[in-house]
Amino acid sequence: MKAAHVKRAFKYRFYPTDAQAVELSRTFGCVRKVYNLALVARTEAWTLRAERVNYNTTSAMLTAWKKTEELAYLNDVSSVPLQQALRHLQMAFTSFFGKRAKYPRFKSRKRSRKSAEYTTSAFRFQGGRLTLAKMTEPLDIVWSRPLPEGAQPSTVTVSQDAAGRWYVSLLVEDPSVQPLLATDAAVGIDAGLDHLLTLSTGEQIANPRHERRDRTCLARAQRELARKAPGDGANRAKARRRVARVHARIADRRRDHLHKLTTRLVRENQTIVIEDLTVRNLLKNGRLARAISDAAWSEFRSLLEYKARWYGRDVIAVDRWFPSSKLCSHCGTLQDRMPLHVRIWTCDGCGVTLDRDVNAAHNLKAAGLAVSACGAGVRPQRSTPGGQSATKQETPRREP
Ligand SMILES: [Zn+2]
Repeated sequence: MKAAHVKRAFKYRFYPTDAQAVELSRTFGCVRKVYNLALVARTEAWTLRAERVNYNTTSAMLTAWKKTEELAYLNDVSSVPLQQALRHLQMAFTSFFGKRAKYPRFKSRKRSRKSAEYTTSAFRFQGGRLTLAKMTEPLDIVWSRPLPEGAQPSTVTVSQDAAGRWYVSLLVEDPSVQPLLATDAAVGIDAGLDHLLTLSTGEQIANPRHERRDRTCLARAQRELARKAPGDGANRAKARRRVARVHARIADRRRDHLHKLTTRLVRENQTIVIEDLTVRNLLKNGRLARAISDAAWSEFRSLLEYKARWYGRDVIAVDRWFPSSKLCSHCGTLQDRMPLHVRIWTCDGCGVTLDRDVNAAHNLKAAGLAVSACGAGVRPQRSTPGGQSATKQETPRREP
């Protein structure tokens, strides 16, 4: 049996031109007006004549209102958001009659959310550019996260919050998202040096293929750009474009790699425990800097977190002071020192030989599972900067 595709809303900020802002504000006003007029009509019909007015009737009313002199301005905006307002009112009444909601309230200029909903006939989405009805230019959207491959929005909602910020929400069918069955599987993930990631299962995940070769290419392109004299405009521009192209290729391959990886991790596991390491802190260490930029840890984490939300999985970030590398995952003995170059070590307590990264991933998993089972009640040991175990403890932070 093929599961139905999940529809998901992707919300982004955008920055309207002055003309677009005027158009949208006018549309918000008309949406509010139409909604309130229809609410009056339906209320009168219900209270005075015990009649239920349906969507089609209010739609006919809208046509009539537009022909009056007083409401002729409703013709100035796209008719689709106005029709959608009537549909929303219909849904509000359906909920009311189904005893799931209170009687619909009027939209107020101050209290109500300013929004307008556009269906496919009222916008064009092409090549990643979204143009709304009554507009000539596409919206200047900040694509803070990618839309699913080949996604075509069925509904677009524009809104403005109280702080005056503009948002656009695109409802798309996401073929990559299928509801997942719950599982007991959990995994701890360590951000490594030699490998991109090490899983508590012992699996080590390498950097994307071609990354090393692309870096060589990039270095060569950058050297060529540096050699071009400032006066040599045309060739300099060409060299600069070449550098930009290699950069884009590295970023594309990395994103592709991280997408596949995070999808797999989220599919296979109910709980994913990561270390709450901030790139900023690691960059202080020169040797780590390159590895971290390659690993694109923050991109990995944000992809992981949003996919986990989609599929109903948990990502738990364990406090970065948690001594995941110094703690023996077999007996719990805390080692005094664990210099970065030590990849394999033998525990003082139980004598077992451990791979540094796999051991760390194991510890993260155990700490994360303790947190997820007991809420804030369990506190893993905390190491002081001096390397001694301390009784003062830190609770791993659970991501919202
Ligand atoms: Zn041990």
